[in-house]
This record gives sequence, C-alpha cells and structure tokens, in this order.
Amino acid sequence: MRLQNKIAIITGAGSGIGRGIALAFVKEGAKVVVADWSEEGGKETVEQIRKINGEVVFVKTDVSKTADIEQMVKTCLDKFGQVDILVNNAGIHRAYNLHEMSEENWDTVLNVNLKSVFLGSKRVIPEMLKQGKGKIISIASIAGLVGFAQSGAYCASKGGIIALTKEMVLEYAPKKINVNCIAPGVIKTVMTKDMITDPATKQFLESSTPYPRLGEPEDIAMAAVYLASDESDFVNGEVLVVDGGWVAK
Ligand code: NAP
Repeated sequence: MRLQNKIAIITGAGSGIGRGIALAFVKEGAKVVVADWSEEGGKETVEQIRKINGEVVFVKTDVSKTADIEQMVKTCLDKFGQVDILVNNAGIHRAYNLHEMSEENWDTVLNVNLKSVFLGSKRVIPEMLKQGKGKIISIASIAGLVGFAQSGAYCASKGGIIALTKEMVLEYAPKKINVNCIAPGVIKTVMTKDMITDPATKQFLESSTPYPRLGEPEDIAMAAVYLASDESDFVNGEVLVVDGGWVAK
C-alpha cells in the first residue's frame, strides 16, 4: 500500500473532494484526521471510513481560525502521535461581480481558502521538521491559473495558494518537506451542484472540458495519493492540473 501507516490530516473532508481524498488515503493504508466545520458531513465521512475498517478521528474545525487549527493538530498528535501529511482542502466560493462583492465576503473567501493554508502549514511544519519529512498538499484550482467571471476573491485565493506553494518549497524542500498543490477543473461536488443542474451551464462546462466527462472527487484523490506518497519525493512546488484538459485549450 502506498501510504501504509502514514498519518494524514484532511481539511474539508466532510464532503466532496476532501471526503474522496480521505477514503483514498485510508484504502492506501493511512490513518486520517477528518477536519471540517460541518459535524454532519464529518460524521458521514467517518462512517464511510469505518465501513472499510479505516482508523479515523473527526475534529470540528473552522480552518480560518488559529484556535481550531491548533485543536485539529493536537487531536492528531494525541490520537496518532505524529502528522505526516496535511491536505489543505477546505474551500468556499462566493459568486459576485467584483464591484458588487462586499469587503466581508472578500475577507471570508480569502480567510477560508488562503489564510487557512498559512495557518495549517505553520502549525504542522514544526512537527514535520522534527520528523525529518512531511507532505503538504493544497487544493488550488484552475481558477488560480485562468480567470473565471464572478470569482474574483476565489481566483485570487487560489492563485495565492499556488504562489505560497512555490515560496514554501524554497524554505522547506531542503528539510524534506514536500509542498505541492493540485488544480482541479470542474469536479462534481456540492460546490458545483447548482451549476451542473442548470442545463445551459452544464453544457458550457462540458464543452469547455476536452475530456468527455466532468471530474469526480476520485480523480483528485488519486493525484493526492501520489503527492502524499514516497513516489513523489522529488516533486516540489508542482501545480498538478487535473481538469480534463480545460487549461490546455
Ligand atoms: P464541497 O463539497 O463544498 O466541500 C467543502 C467542504 O469544506 C465542506 O464540507 C464544507 O462544509 C467545508 N468547509 C467550508 N468552509 C470551511 C471552513 N472554514 N472550515 C472547515 N471546513 C470548511 O467542495 P469541494 O468541491 O469538495 O471543494 C473542495 C476544495 O476543492 C475547495 O478548496 C475547492 O475550492 C476546491 N476545488 C473544487 C472544484 C470543484 O469543481 N468542485 C474545482 C477546483 C477546486 P460546508 O458544506 O458545511 O460549508
């Protein structure tokens, strides 16, 4: 198994891509911390993991709050004794034209999507330095590479994740902490449900994706397994685009 006995924290694991990553990690032998601010979602993920005999703990976590991040990592260390992998996955989207977006909404999106990567990484890096190894994977988006209308804060936050990922490589690759990110295209989750149920938008999304289907959480999960495994030790600062070819056009 590719992640045998590795300890992983996955934020936003109560739904969609985060749940897919948690399940895939467990299937590869990892023990996981499911961190999400949704207790209902988190508990559903825990149930699914227990059904496949995985070891798991849920921590109610708002990733934009330092105290919650502290509790998330403490729970991981108390339960499993170390943290090998952090997946910064939790994220939100708020659709507004830029001139109509409130400052409060801008701050919320940046705090949940980008500040969380700073807070989570800042807290796990000292543990990884002690261990002499670690993997940090953040879920960015193709919206960090190309523009999407009504997504100013979202695009800025995802572009910020890509820039921060590269910065962190310079500080931590020499210490054998791998920092990479994944840029998904359109993946079928709660986040995209409304778009996919609207026939005209669905048609636009499908016609913008050269591969003949939209993405599933498992598509991202398999990329995350690779970046979390020893197979990717020489991969540093990569933006792994998993988008069915959207940005290749
Ligand atoms: P999702 O199904 O909405 O899942 C996101 C999970 O994160 C939900 O359980 C959500 O809880 C939780 N969450 C939101 N804010 C949080 C916070 N402050 N603290 C802790 N948990 C929080 O979305 P998804 O599609 O799986 O998205 C996962 C990541 O992939 C996000 O970073 C997203 O930007 C990125 N992404 C998604 C797509 C796509 O097409 N789906 C494409 C590119 C990138 P609630 O539901 O209760 O809010």
